[in-house]
Amino acid sequence: MRQATVYIDREALQYNLNRVKQLAPTAQILSMVKANAYGHGVKDCLTALSETDAFGVACLEEALEIRQLGDQHPITLIEGVFSIDEMQLAIEHNVECMVHHQQQLDWLYAHQQQYIAQNLKVWVKLNSGMNRIGFKISEIIEVIQKLKASGFTCVLTMHFANADVENHLLNEQQKNQFLAVKQACAPILASCCNSAALYQWPELNFDFVRPGIMLYGASPFADRTAADLDLKPVMTFTAEIMALNQIGVGEHVGYGSTFTAQKDTELAIVSIGYGDGYPRAFIDQNYVVINGKQRPIIGRVAMDMIAVDVTGLNAGIGTEVELWGKQRLVDDVAKANATIGYELLCRLSARPKRK
Ligand SMILES: *Cc1c(COP(=O)(O)O)cnc(C)c1O
Repeated sequence: MRQATVYIDREALQYNLNRVKQLAPTAQILSMVKANAYGHGVKDCLTALSETDAFGVACLEEALEIRQLGDQHPITLIEGVFSIDEMQLAIEHNVECMVHHQQQLDWLYAHQQQYIAQNLKVWVKLNSGMNRIGFKISEIIEVIQKLKASGFTCVLTMHFANADVENHLLNEQQKNQFLAVKQACAPILASCCNSAALYQWPELNFDFVRPGIMLYGASPFADRTAADLDLKPVMTFTAEIMALNQIGVGEHVGYGSTFTAQKDTELAIVSIGYGDGYPRAFIDQNYVVINGKQRPIIGRVAMDMIAVDVTGLNAGIGTEVELWGKQRLVDDVAKANATIGYELLCRLSARPKRK
């Protein structure tokens, strides 16, 4: 059988959740499990994250999947609902909504009694300079005061555009706006920290933190590794050697014949490709790990196969190859491919088997 396998280490997930607890001991934890738990498989992750206080997802479909799995944790839709019908469904399934524009407010007020009766919190988004979604500082205070006066429990929320950069100018603006609104609307629950912000600004942990990438043991920072942050990689992505091949000086490998051997080379053909979600376009030399050794990929990544230089390695058919995991960090594969770990994890295809 073709072997392309994603292993999920539930203990690593629990370890990383405990890291969040250490970093934000007084906050509740809204574990972000959007995009199928960052590609890890929401079903497996829910059980490992059972100690979390709540879950965060991007849309109602993701929330309903969690409910169908029988999980009763509070859930927040971080983009809110996309229609009034979804508002009704969200309430029926005990799912809390972000509101970030007037129409969502109208839908919320249309279901005011039921929403409040079920003790659901309203997450109100401040646009403090990222300029994706949210109410501007000039309008949000009135929005919140009206919600509070109508009996809603509100959580003031925002998202940093540069939480992974220590001294970005916009960070100060975003913090100051958030604190100003928080003060003007006091008392109010508050939440503004993703993984990077959790590490950078413990003083901003407030009532709810929203860790995503750190739960999965990847780094939100370009210059700090998972080990620097005391996180454990959760996903190990592997394949197997499916053929071996010898080439001599001047011979080429793969589509476009982009590689030309400068010496006699032993090649392993590995059963992985972009059809599995392995990235094709590397800008720096990319590596895999075989028998504990880093080995370079040779030529282009194809849909189902790659070639790896295994000269002198004594590798055989069926030998396991780590594409990313504990030996080769997903963040390093991402760097070699001009992207971030988040993207590689999320864009795995359905083809690899999951264990
Ligand atoms: C995805 C997301 C997070 C988690 O971000 P990480 O960088 O993965 O920790 C937090 N808050 C919001 C609103 C998000 O969309």
